[in-house]
Amino acid sequence: MPLIECPDCQREVSDRAPACPDCGCPIAPQAIEKTSKLYKGVQVWSLVAMVVALQLTCNRDRGPFGETTPSPWPPFLLAGSVAVYLGARASAWWDHG
Ligand SMILES: [Zn+2]
Repeated sequence: MPLIECPDCQREVSDRAPACPDCGCPIAPQAIEKTSKLYKGVQVWSLVAMVVALQLTCNRDRGPFGETTPSPWPPFLLAGSVAVYLGARASAWWDHG
């Protein structure tokens, strides 16, 4: 059970407690907001990676560094970014129920 610092009184409180037992400051909504921001960040970056990978996959006759031989990795990057994006969405959905 991880402990987080109460934003009001700086006491260590369980992150599962709905509010700080000392001062009554709500804890859980903040934790959810924090994780949802993390998931949003992951989603944004995986979307960027998806677009880049899609571009590279469609233009495989010229690699990202100007090489003339097709790179084998853009489809893997595309699949990976899709997996990360879906994973972040699923985690956000799971957390918010
Ligand atoms: Zn407190």
